[in-house]
Amino acid sequence: EFRLRFAPSPTGYLHIGGLRTALYNHLFTKHNNGKFILRIEDTDQTRFVEGAVENLIDSLNWSGIEHDEGVFIEDGKIVEKGEYGPYIQSKRLDIYKKYVDELVEKGHAYYCFCSKERLDSVREEQKIKGLVPKYDGFCRNVSLEEAKERIQNGEKYVVRLKLPRSQDIKFHDLVRGDITINTDDIDDQVLLKSDGYPTYHMAVVVDDHLMKITHIVRGEEWLPSTPKHIYLYEVFGWEKPTYVHLPTVLNKERKKLSKRHGDVSVEDFRTKGYLPEGLVNYLALVGWTPEDNQEILSMDEMIEKFSFERVAKTGGIFDKDKLDWVNGHYIREESIERITDIAIPYLKEAGLIDDRFIEENRKWLEILVDIVREGMHHMDEIVDRVEFMFTNEVEVENDAIETLKGEGTLTILKALREELEEVEKIDEEYADSFMKKIQKRTGIKGKNLFMPTRVALAGSLHGPEFAKIIYLLGKQNILDRIDYIEK
Ligand code: GLU
Repeated sequence: EFRLRFAPSPTGYLHIGGLRTALYNHLFTKHNNGKFILRIEDTDQTRFVEGAVENLIDSLNWSGIEHDEGVFIEDGKIVEKGEYGPYIQSKRLDIYKKYVDELVEKGHAYYCFCSKERLDSVREEQKIKGLVPKYDGFCRNVSLEEAKERIQNGEKYVVRLKLPRSQDIKFHDLVRGDITINTDDIDDQVLLKSDGYPTYHMAVVVDDHLMKITHIVRGEEWLPSTPKHIYLYEVFGWEKPTYVHLPTVLNKERKKLSKRHGDVSVEDFRTKGYLPEGLVNYLALVGWTPEDNQEILSMDEMIEKFSFERVAKTGGIFDKDKLDWVNGHYIREESIERITDIAIPYLKEAGLIDDRFIEENRKWLEILVDIVREGMHHMDEIVDRVEFMFTNEVEVENDAIETLKGEGTLTILKALREELEEVEKIDEEYADSFMKKIQKRTGIKGKNLFMPTRVALAGSLHGPEFAKIIYLLGKQNILDRIDYIEK
């Protein structure tokens, strides 16, 4: 059985690059009827952020990426499920310690007592010589007895991996192919830090092994670390997983997407009113294309079509216009009930509606959302589009003012009023024939009738279907708008 994991560090939010990694893990797992595990990698205590785990899981849940095992949120609390726990690394310190000790005993790792000052000056020297900074191996030859004595005496230490010199480490990556790296180009990685926490490298190998992970799917920034991991699997005598390194999500300038350059967290996109379907669908295409080049895909379709053979080797460009296009599709196609639900918080926030209004006018709201959703890219645009419906003091847009200056306007306004005085209530059928009736009354037709009427009642030259606006406004609002414009 395939077992995959997403193993984020809780740094405060879920980066959309991380979401894509989670997504590909999820798609591949489900395609193969495997199990998907969420593990929290929190061994860097300096980066601890309150609420980060909750936030991360919340973003994953929102995105529709489900895991089978590991860390979950239930009733606002963090819970763990599965037989290979704990799934939070900070709860596994004893386990790592045991394996670190084993490495030291077998001579594959050593205690290092070098001070920060010494490491810094070694690094400086190497930089001056034009070398890639790397630990110089100063403590490699400290005997185990001496090391233990120094530890007894309270000296601070870390444990480092003792890589053999000048040895090729080879592995295969499903996306990148065969990779060979010589140990001379790799640092004697710290495995256990002076605070007693393992580094990522130690913890990830131990956990992936103990949790029986079969495929490691992660960002390509981890590719240079993989030889160290491979070496650890070898000295422990453990079966190696299959590796898949994904191309980085880049911006249009081919740089890594960073917070400084705009939105990068799932939350940012959620706040702007991207639908999970839209964001996930688009992200899947950043670095992967299905064989038939289909661009709009549901989660189930993606699961069915997904394979690593069709994942690109080089960075995928995150194109916001394309995202908007995909998201716009979902805004148009999802049920109007759902889109209205998503629209409501924006309208409330803007002060256009409140709970009582919603209770009394839900259907009205749905029709309104329905007539404006065409052409929208994210739901926060809704406020601008519907604002004109909520005040009878219509603000006429600059480019529309001219339209009202024509000689027909007064005639039209008069006819509108006379027509409305003869009806009690505007129903849908009446709304559809309304402009025909005004045409009859005024003898004005086409653009000359239509444009001034729209501008007078809605404030702009363009917008949603006018008959629907008439219906939604109703008699009294239209009369009030006529009063206002006449002043
Ligand atoms: N904790 C690592 C991260 O935050 C996970 C890397 C991996 O999947 O091995 O990206």
